[in-house]
Amino acid sequence: MKKLVFVIVLLQLMVFANADDRIRNYNDQISFIFNLSNKFIINEMGIVEYPENSYMMYKITYNNSNALNNRRYLIISCNHGNEIAPVYAIKDFILYLDSKEQVINNITIDFIYILNPYGFEYNIRYNGQEKDLNRDFITVKTPEIKIFINSIKDTQYVGMYDFHEHGATKGFMLYYYANKNKELSKDILNMLKDNNIVLENEWVDVILKTKDGSIYVPFYAKWYYRSILKQETTGLYFDRLNVDEVFTFETPTYKNIEERKLIIDLILKYLFEYNIKNK
Ligand SMILES: [Zn+2]
Repeated sequence: MKKLVFVIVLLQLMVFANADDRIRNYNDQISFIFNLSNKFIINEMGIVEYPENSYMMYKITYNNSNALNNRRYLIISCNHGNEIAPVYAIKDFILYLDSKEQVINNITIDFIYILNPYGFEYNIRYNGQEKDLNRDFITVKTPEIKIFINSIKDTQYVGMYDFHEHGATKGFMLYYYANKNKELSKDILNMLKDNNIVLENEWVDVILKTKDGSIYVPFYAKWYYRSILKQETTGLYFDRLNVDEVFTFETPTYKNIEERKLIIDLILKYLFEYNIKNK
């Protein structure tokens, strides 16, 4: 009997410990944004409140000076709180943009740097309501997505790139949602291949099989998600808004963090230095 009580107490302690397992600090991670130069502006989007935590969400805008004439892009990271290489890689990219003498002409970039602060702190996929933010773009039941949509709904973007990580793949892969993005998708994947990055070829998402590092999301999959599941991801949402370039990137958590960061850095520099110059 004593043994049983001991086990029960121990189990309860473990549950308690898990529930309170805060392993990162959101405010520490974002503190660098307040030291950026005037190439950036910081916008407070709104506060996400939980019983014991509250988080101010920020939109970090690069090169707002001529924003009306510029091509405007949206970059999202930490949609799922346990997918963290993008958080570190995008911080480095923001600091890199800030360190360059001149701004990149004709583009403006909005960064939603950590979409899921609670998940980031507790290293979990979901938010503090145990909801998946990346399924919430139709029902909009989470404070994070409410605040996010409210902040970007009047902005016309030409590109939306959402950086995720994948626990079940061995190589890198991306999702694209419109045929017109097929060429850019191939260009990105070829560039990665040239840099010796392994591409995924095996992963099957429900019935969509990865091919040479990419999954094209066809109309019937969009219909199934939207109409049957009543769910939308960032990709489906911005595809519905007719944003020109919509991509979801997935670095494999199987690789070490430095390799994942390198992939993200290669993609960002490719999109915003090489690719933009050729437009
Ligand atoms: Zn994810």
